[in-house]
Amino acid sequence: MRILCVVGLVSAGALVLAACASARRPGAETIAPSEAAADRGGTSNPVDEDDEGPAFENLTPEQAATLSSAETAARQLLQSPDFKALVTSIPASHERGTGWDHRSDPSGHADDDGATIFVQVGAAFPPAIRYQGYVAKRSRAIAVDGFADVVRINTVKMAGAGAFDYVNTIWHEVAHKADYFHHGNRRRGNECTVPHMLGDAAAMAAEKARTGRWGQLPADACEALRVARAQQP
Ligand SMILES: [Zn+2]
Repeated sequence: MRILCVVGLVSAGALVLAACASARRPGAETIAPSEAAADRGGTSNPVDEDDEGPAFENLTPEQAATLSSAETAARQLLQSPDFKALVTSIPASHERGTGWDHRSDPSGHADDDGATIFVQVGAAFPPAIRYQGYVAKRSRAIAVDGFADVVRINTVKMAGAGAFDYVNTIWHEVAHKADYFHHGNRRRGNECTVPHMLGDAAAMAAEKARTGRWGQLPADACEALRVARAQQP
């Protein structure tokens, strides 16, 4: 059982989805101490991967609708030429800020470039995602990935969330499912890892799919994403 999570930061009135998770290696059986956990339990109660259940559990109809819409938008990016072009233009890198940061990934992923990542994470995208709501008022975590096709959502963070606010989260968690990681719970220093940068890219591309204009580059985005975005029409 591996558990990862995503933290939400409220920045300038917008819900900025930053991710958090300890880099979990295959075979790990316990939940890594995390800042979210330290902040009271963001990563508690692992999800049983084999547990079948409803698609939406412990969520209001409104919350379920938000997540359903976000998943639809996230899933549509699998067929988005814009998203593919953005992602594939980012190289693998071992130098900070210049490309995908694979320092927390298994060694087999060390040289994965954007094209490989697009294929790998796309293949890991579940046919259906199940969502389970939980409440952690003092946690920064907005979601916990049970590493199956279940994403647990901290419903405290859903107040005011729109249908597109969870596109980043969904791609972030699917990136974990594809065995890409980051170190620790802070976004800072992890912004170039696959879960973070891919999530940022997905949010920007979903906005473009919706409005025709790229979504805003997060202020704390990886430099490589800024460069890649500047290359796009
Ligand atoms: Zn994460």
